[in-house]
Amino acid sequence: MSRRRQIYEGKAKILYEGPEPGTLIQYFKDDATAFNAQKKGTISGKGVLNNRISEHIFTLLGNIGVPTHFIKRLNMREQLIRQVEIVPLEVIVRNVAAGGLSKRMGIEEGTQLPRTLIEYTYKDDALGDPMVSEEHIACFGWANQEEMHDIADMAIRVNDFMSGLFAAIGIRLVDFKLEFGRIWDGDFARIILADEISPDNCRLWDMATNEKLDKDRFRRDLGGEVEAYQEVARRLGLLPEGSETDVLDLESHRKKRGK
Ligand code: 5GP
Repeated sequence: MSRRRQIYEGKAKILYEGPEPGTLIQYFKDDATAFNAQKKGTISGKGVLNNRISEHIFTLLGNIGVPTHFIKRLNMREQLIRQVEIVPLEVIVRNVAAGGLSKRMGIEEGTQLPRTLIEYTYKDDALGDPMVSEEHIACFGWANQEEMHDIADMAIRVNDFMSGLFAAIGIRLVDFKLEFGRIWDGDFARIILADEISPDNCRLWDMATNEKLDKDRFRRDLGGEVEAYQEVARRLGLLPEGSETDVLDLESHRKKRGK
């Protein structure tokens, strides 16, 4: 398929060498995993949708001054990004109790939290991404205090912006996961937003019905994954009204033309 040098393959994405130093190409796969890859599957068309949704959100965040790794979308499944040194943390932002928090704390799913909660996990599949405190982060040197300040600050800005973006289209932003990276300018490192923002790493509930429009449909065997992701894309204005399968049709059309 591609003769570019592969740098890294993750569960949902592949990173290839970019056209210029300091750039990478991020390829969105249809593979889906859950529960630390104990559950595996394919959601046909997911990569196309996540590429488009993530492009949209990263572009809007860039417009309000949040620094991100996103440069431009290249095609249906790929985007050009800045190469970063990934901070080995998953930054989880929660507005409403669900998933891991509900389980750990015995709080009913759907309970509005009195304030936004930020949690950190250490990115390590073999350890199952254990939750860590800022003390652990400082102790093991994963990020310094100034970087943690920037990360928390950006996480709150992203949350405020995305909560409004989704509320305007009838979707409650329950929680989401962010990843950050460092870019170096000589001896000086700057933290920027990396990875992706899509229904793969957000909980998105329809405000009227509480229907889940995110990866929990896969995690919990609810079915209708691609329809849910398409609904998010449609409400964001990324799919023409009334043409639910357009993204996928477009991709197969391009493939037939050998592009
Ligand atoms: P929880 O800790 O409740 O399982 O997840 C909280 C939020 O972070 C959810 O929106 C979930 O999608 C996201 N999240 C947490 N860990 C991961 C992960 O390893 N991969 C992805 N894609 N999302 C995650």
